[in-house]
Amino acid sequence: MSQLALHQQLSWQEILAATPMDSRQLCHLLALEMDSLPAEHPLLKQFPLRVPAPFLKRIEKGNPADPLLLQIFPGSQEALAVPGFSSDPVGESDANPKPGILHKYKGRALLLATSSCAIHCRYCFRRHFPYQDNIPGKQHWRESLEYLEHDSTISEVILSGGDPLTLPDKYLAWFMTELGNISHIRRIRIHTRLPIMIPQRITPELCKLLANPRFQTILVIHSNHAQEFDDEVDAACQALKRAGITLLNQSVLLKHINDSAQALAALSERLFKAGVLPYYLHLLDRVSGAAHFDVPQETGKALISALQAQLPGYLVPKLVRENPGHNAKTPVA
Ligand SMILES: *Cc1c(COP(=O)(O)O)cnc(C)c1O
Ligand code: SF4
Repeated sequence: MSQLALHQQLSWQEILAATPMDSRQLCHLLALEMDSLPAEHPLLKQFPLRVPAPFLKRIEKGNPADPLLLQIFPGSQEALAVPGFSSDPVGESDANPKPGILHKYKGRALLLATSSCAIHCRYCFRRHFPYQDNIPGKQHWRESLEYLEHDSTISEVILSGGDPLTLPDKYLAWFMTELGNISHIRRIRIHTRLPIMIPQRITPELCKLLANPRFQTILVIHSNHAQEFDDEVDAACQALKRAGITLLNQSVLLKHINDSAQALAALSERLFKAGVLPYYLHLLDRVSGAAHFDVPQETGKALISALQAQLPGYLVPKLVRENPGHNAKTPVA
């Protein structure tokens, strides 16, 4: 497809602008017939299909079970109501002291820098998050910064969202400057899928901006499968590493995507090759529309044991679950 072949010449902004897609177009591109939510379905209106070209080209044509495809394809099973799966599974509505800030854990606060993402992961626990009350913009950001300034127990700020690296550099630079003025903040952490989704986003300018000597900077990428990596992703990770940024990965344990010891071990090995250490393996947050991705906790534990039996300890992620009201992610051991 010329559209896919051309992306290397496009800027990251152009690739990002071209991410919305409809299921029929996607099936056509990938030579597939799959049972999608109808285009006018409210679930799809609220959380549309979105996939960037660099990720799309890593999906194998004609394979309805491709582990990358399954993360983004809005299948008709999303419309099933399943008991135990709700629209706010992690209790975020209660930990929202100001629009734009989530402060649940000691010492670190999560700043919702933007509500947009380069990809829509169908299992995302934020798919029903009330973003209309949390549309971030300078006014919200200022209020968030005030909150951070007034709580000197906060030493780490996590820029999250949405995906903060969908923001233009000038906004990120503004954040770095403003956060730099708050003396108790020592670490900046960025939760992002962009190095995987649009590796072109990792420009020399961005690396320079993130390597601000005022902070220790950590980038937590989100990858679920070894096939998400290619040379472009490797180059993006290397550029970040060269800039002195610590790279970690979080994954979600997802049925038919990475729920085997083989898939998880391959992911850990591939991460390390790219210079990234595994951090968390999350059990699925039970968000409605995502029940078909759920893997039982016992299976998760067995998978971790299997990884421990074949990998060095530093390549075994921590299996965790997010429980509303707890003061940290809950280890599942
Ligand atoms: C996951 C999360 C964090 C970060 O937790 P770590 O265990 O430090 O990675 C912080 N705040 C919120 C609200 C979170 O959900
Ligand atoms: S990139 Fe993260 S926040 Fe965005 S849809 Fe995927 S999991 Fe959700």
